Amino acid sequence: MLVLVNDQIKSREDVRIDLEDRGYQFGDGIYEVISVYNGQPFLMDQHMQRLERSARELMLDLPVSIGRLKEKVQALIEQEGRSTCSVYLQVTRGAAPRRHPFPTSATPVLTGYIMDSNPPRDLHAEGIRAITTDDIRWLRCDIKSLNLLGSVLAKQKAVEQGCQEAILHRSDTVTEGSSTNVFIVKNGTLYTHPANHLILHGITRHAAIQLAEKLNTNVKETPFKREDLYEADEVFVTGTSIEICPVTHVDNRAIGNGQPGDVTKQLQRAFYDLIVEETAM
Ligand code: PMP
Repeated sequence: MLVLVNDQIKSREDVRIDLEDRGYQFGDGIYEVISVYNGQPFLMDQHMQRLERSARELMLDLPVSIGRLKEKVQALIEQEGRSTCSVYLQVTRGAAPRRHPFPTSATPVLTGYIMDSNPPRDLHAEGIRAITTDDIRWLRCDIKSLNLLGSVLAKQKAVEQGCQEAILHRSDTVTEGSSTNVFIVKNGTLYTHPANHLILHGITRHAAIQLAEKLNTNVKETPFKREDLYEADEVFVTGTSIEICPVTHVDNRAIGNGQPGDVTKQLQRAFYDLIVEETAM
């Protein structure tokens, strides 16, 4: 396996992560996951802009320019000879003796590698089941930070109940999924939580909103309640790995007739077309 370390591509065996790396000890870092189709990174500019924003919000200096990073991501995909996969990138504040304040001496470290991925088209046709659970995360969910315990615990709870996703709520307001953004459809209008500090500003979320608008579907970025989920005509989630995926059951209650809905299916088709358009050679 090849690994990108700052702007060098190395064999995994030659990569050493310091015991006192702040990513390891404090979760002091950020990440991105980019889907690759047809050997081409999908919506790479948007992922790079979000990486830059996360870094800025945490006062973290990226060790590589975005231009160089894009070249290296492409080189990694080519050298690994991959067509459909995803790229994981993370940047930590680097290694220093374990004290909370930012170290003066540490140098940020970027690592990246290819992960296996297969667009889950079977789930897209069938839909997934979700539970709801309290959103116990911090108040800067807009930063794609390495601190994922709130999401890990929620996803684990979903899996233990035979479900694929946990939909999070603060009081009664639905925020997002443990690793996805959540939409409901009611009377032909899409609703999703506004892109503020309580959710990750998903790149797939943004693409779905743009596609919906192109299809003349009304979109409201307005918070909605847990009850609205149960009573929605359709529910779907969006994310880099899951793309656009229907949710047919929430807390064991069928959404609509318990089958993927028409608005969701129309958006899925538009999203597949977007992938082909954007990643054609
Ligand atoms: N929300 C959370 C909490 C996530 O972890 C993710 C995926 N990383 C998303 C939403 C979806 O974001 P994107 O479409 O950019 O993958």
